Amino acid sequence: MMLTPTHHFRDIERRPEYLQPEKCVPPPYPGPAGTMWFIRDGCGIACAIVTWFLVLYAEFVVLFVMLIPSRDYVYSIINGVVFNLLAFLALASHCRAMLTDPGAVPKGNATKEFIESLQLKPGQVVYKCPKCCSIKPDRAHHCSVCKRCIRKMDHHCPWVNNCVGENNQKFFVLFTMYIALISLHALIMVGFHFLHCFEEDWTKCSSFSPPTTVILLILLCFEALLFLIFTSVMFGTQVHSICTDETGIEQLKKEERRWAKKTKWMNMKAVFGHPFSLGWASPFATPDQGKADPYQYVV
Ligand SMILES: [Zn+2]
Ligand SMILES: [Zn+2]
Repeated sequence: MMLTPTHHFRDIERRPEYLQPEKCVPPPYPGPAGTMWFIRDGCGIACAIVTWFLVLYAEFVVLFVMLIPSRDYVYSIINGVVFNLLAFLALASHCRAMLTDPGAVPKGNATKEFIESLQLKPGQVVYKCPKCCSIKPDRAHHCSVCKRCIRKMDHHCPWVNNCVGENNQKFFVLFTMYIALISLHALIMVGFHFLHCFEEDWTKCSSFSPPTTVILLILLCFEALLFLIFTSVMFGTQVHSICTDETGIEQLKKEERRWAKKTKWMNMKAVFGHPFSLGWASPFATPDQGKADPYQYVV
């Protein structure tokens, strides 16, 4: 094993003759092509269920405590439509972030044929992941939860039970954005509701008893405030790392930039798709990332 101190952030560095491709057995998982991407991680699945539960709780309080009992129909309908639309987009983004392959490197591609096809020149090195027997493209990292090497891995997020990488970063960013927006919207509605109820009789304000109403609203208030702070910070961090084209892991490990510098706008388009359109905000539009950037295996 040859680990050089300058490349300490890489898992392993080997010259082709040390790659030992014959020791790589074909991977048993994933199954046949077309199998849905889903990480079987108990903690991640629990966190993803909690996320859905929290959104559904907010939905319940907003609809049944605040909007439906209100006698101001225009206010209720407008806010109801906006809130439900944002909640739907948040949950749809969550599903896409969770069920999209984040950019997994084929397992066990460190075969003799593949290494020969790279036509290495003397002195050139490729990186092999010792855990999944794959030749890693540049900027890929191994995730111990996904048990795979992920291209442009940013971090593993248990809330979406998946890695955030090259192919699903857009959905993750949209998820944080829509959660921040529904949290802000819920906070504003709770504020109006309290103001309105202090002026009027509490018993006319909600179909629940006054103590129950207050408890439900305060819990919603805490939830919305917590998630507004958490997701807006995450959203800002993600947009910053997309604009500077440096993943969370690369920032953390202070990796030296080996890739070309591009403008912020080009970096945004690389994640959200070409050209700029309404599709940027849609969790249903899969970004067209183009094939202009072939994966670089040889360093
Ligand atoms: Zn790996
Ligand atoms: Zn992962």
